Amino acid sequence: MSLQWDPKWEEVVVEVDGVRVKALRDRVTMLLACPICGTGDKASYFFSPRDLVNHLFSHTSRASGIRVVAAPAEEQDREE
Ligand SMILES: [Zn+2]
Repeated sequence: MSLQWDPKWEEVVVEVDGVRVKALRDRVTMLLACPICGTGDKASYFFSPRDLVNHLFSHTSRASGIRVVAAPAEEQDREE
């Protein structure tokens, strides 16, 4: 039995709410690798495509200095 993870990457396109991202996915564990972090020492892995996309947004907000804040509670209670 091997205790070392030997990923078999395949390129896939995941789509979350209309956001399409090309990423590497391990055939065995189905883990997705962040295409910006890569698969090296600084890799970030995700089971859920949504988590990957949320992580990608953190790259863009870090790069441009944008702070994402939650809407105030009153906004969420307002009827449309
Ligand atoms: Zn990343």
